[in-house]
Amino acid sequence: MSRLAQEYMEATKSTVVPRVLVVEDEPDIAALVAYQLTREGFRVETTGSGTEALDAVGREIPDLVVLDRMLPGLSGDDVLQRLKADPVTSHVPVLMLTAKREQEDRIQGLELGADDYLTKPFSPRELVLRAQAILRRVQETGGTPGGRILKAGPIRLNPESHRTSIGEDELSLTPTEFRLLQALIERRGRTQSRKQLLEKAWDMEAGVSDRIQTRTVDMHVRRLRAKLGELGDWIQTVRGFGYRLKVPEGLD
Ligand code: CA
Repeated sequence: MSRLAQEYMEATKSTVVPRVLVVEDEPDIAALVAYQLTREGFRVETTGSGTEALDAVGREIPDLVVLDRMLPGLSGDDVLQRLKADPVTSHVPVLMLTAKREQEDRIQGLELGADDYLTKPFSPRELVLRAQAILRRVQETGGTPGGRILKAGPIRLNPESHRTSIGEDELSLTPTEFRLLQALIERRGRTQSRKQLLEKAWDMEAGVSDRIQTRTVDMHVRRLRAKLGELGDWIQTVRGFGYRLKVPEGLD
């Protein structure tokens, strides 16, 4: 088993090898991706259609989905939307693959909730690095030592167990949403720019345009607000700058 797979299991207190579901209808690419990830120590299951992918997820929730965008029948976007709409699977990170080299695709994928995006043709090494980066984010948010629990009113966020709750109710957050909420809670009351939030919650490369920064952060804030329910209003928009978490007086 690779060091990453071992670290991942330790950090997430998992007793099984992390599992990656590869959804790709082109057999050569599916085989290549599966080969590379298996070499890294992961259990890999491949499916050739969106419907099969949802069946596979229904049987066992994977630690990561590598999802081709262009699939026959149910498209990659459809699969992504269904995964994100279901509270049981909305936390599962997704790496999207696309044949097109268009920035619009990347933006749309990120807006739909993909954690990262890879354009074909990609090198197998690049795929492994991206997959590792996503799993490291899960691992990092779950692997903070000390068992520190962050609080904001009735919101509890445990960087150790990667769990979030409001009162008695557990929240299902994606790794990105988790880090975004963590950044907001850690600096509550203070305004943070979209760029600052991107750096904390994403491994965004420098040089991403302002437009993508804005759309990506705004979309995830929208999702996070929706998941926080009536507490979603606590995330305040600071026009032309960014966001801050404002806990009403008496509740903090
Ligand atoms: Ca395809």
